[in-house]
Amino acid sequence: MAKILRINMTSLSARTEDAPEIYRKFGGRGLSDCIIDQEVPPTCDPLGAENKLVFAPGILGGTTAPCSGRLSVGAKSPLTKGIKEANTGGAMSQKLARLGIKAVIFEGKAKEPTSIKIDKSGVYFASAAPLAGLGCYEILERLKAEHGDQVCLACIGPAGDMMLTAASIIFTTPDFHIRVAARGGLGAVMGSKNLKSVVVDDTGSNLVEVKDPQKFKENVSAITKGVLSNAFSLGLRNLGTPQIVMITQTAGALPTKNFSMGQFDKAENICGEHMEEMLKKRPNAETTHKCMNGCILSCSNIYTDEKGEFVVASIEYETIALIGSNCLIGDLDAIARINRVCNDAGVDTMDIGAALAVSMEGGLIPWGDADAALNLVKEIAKGTENGRMIGNGVKFTGEKLGVKRIPHVKGQGMSGYDPRILKGTGVTFATSPMGADHTSGIVLPGPHHPEYVPVSSTGQAPESRFMQRWMAAMDSLGFCMMLAMPVMEEKTLHMDRNVIGCVSALTGEELGESFILDLGQSALQLERKFNKAAGLTEADDRLPKFFEEEKFGPPGFVFDVPKEDLDSVHKS
Ligand code: SF4
Repeated sequence: MAKILRINMTSLSARTEDAPEIYRKFGGRGLSDCIIDQEVPPTCDPLGAENKLVFAPGILGGTTAPCSGRLSVGAKSPLTKGIKEANTGGAMSQKLARLGIKAVIFEGKAKEPTSIKIDKSGVYFASAAPLAGLGCYEILERLKAEHGDQVCLACIGPAGDMMLTAASIIFTTPDFHIRVAARGGLGAVMGSKNLKSVVVDDTGSNLVEVKDPQKFKENVSAITKGVLSNAFSLGLRNLGTPQIVMITQTAGALPTKNFSMGQFDKAENICGEHMEEMLKKRPNAETTHKCMNGCILSCSNIYTDEKGEFVVASIEYETIALIGSNCLIGDLDAIARINRVCNDAGVDTMDIGAALAVSMEGGLIPWGDADAALNLVKEIAKGTENGRMIGNGVKFTGEKLGVKRIPHVKGQGMSGYDPRILKGTGVTFATSPMGADHTSGIVLPGPHHPEYVPVSSTGQAPESRFMQRWMAAMDSLGFCMMLAMPVMEEKTLHMDRNVIGCVSALTGEELGESFILDLGQSALQLERKFNKAAGLTEADDRLPKFFEEEKFGPPGFVFDVPKEDLDSVHKS
């Protein structure tokens, strides 16, 4: 049976233990939720020793199920002040699962910055002094040189060291590119524990044991075939998530000029189609890339400059929307450079992009000035006053600059979809226990959903409820959102049954048809319970007022979903 690995940073000691009964049915997000709910006082200081940091592979982690190697990172968030799960790709989840680890719980606080190595024989502690003051790219290079290329690495950068509330945790892919547990300031929690880096080496471990390999294989094969037949998947495999730029632009929902417009006149310069064309001409660039073994969609990319010098991997839709159109920056190369500096400092590109836009609205830097934005982001690692302001995210920045229109929910910057056009997504942004986040359950129109009217003020709560449960379950299983969406969309293929079949084949248990939504609901209930005890109320389940007041687009849309509907999302 997979174990819990408990690492005490105060005593620099570690022990493995059987997972308590209450933790056993969960993995990934649900498991992280359950651990935080059981072990973290809801009113504690998120940056104090009572908070805990959890790394949890999903239920299917370490198996051959496609795109099932997402890692859930959890803690009480210093940004939202509620429970948080940030989800990342990379190699960590599969390596932990293959070492027989269901979750790692970091607790307490070390006296000095500390690096940890986990392998088959145990846990090792070392001083992180040699990594002091370095950016994440240099840290990863040094750790790779020391530990070899068969490991997975995690680290925080200067923003995490300074406990800035938009700090992220950086992870590596099998080929040592970067993936990020970006949201909710969990890098600050890692920094508060004086935990600088984690190395996981699964040498000598095996694939996770599957009780019924034939049944597992058949269900994996059906999911793979079904997902690859989906139209959105096809776009992802060519253009990656930047394909979404022209979709939201066409819908009028692309955040532009701090969410004051839904279309950007330079969208064609920053869209997936343009990026693909450009990268195909550039040496060393790749328009598709896998962030983990077993990925069947390869939605990532490797972005180089005109000379073929590496800039960043991977540049994603959310970064393009928040740093690009939302700041009126219509130049992919400039966005990629800012993305790189964010990665090096170890901060969330979404919250930072939103903070840059409010800095422009507040007059600190001019609209669309990519060089000024880049220089401001460079201040984060230097720890200057403005750097600390930006590194604390959009809410902090907006309030400090006296900006009225701050696009956040529960303190977390909104992802790249305007909620006045995509009202179901707006309901999710408002009511997700995670704060405004696209991974919590975006509601989209499409061929899978022909009767759905995204701008309608009614009927949005059930749509959001379903998607929040669906995504909470997918995060608990370890599936990537890019796979979770086509599995949900291709209703006639009934891939939900194949997902249930995989879990059943893995564990040997018979599972009912409601397994997925029940799993998601259980996770959400834990999250709501924790947030309530932490002091969050229904008043926190609201979008900023300007989305209700400012008319948007030619028909003059506002976010007008009734408050009773918002409050009903988690009640049935
Ligand atoms: S689809 Fe994209 S994000 Fe998902 S596992 Fe593959 S490369 Fe990673």
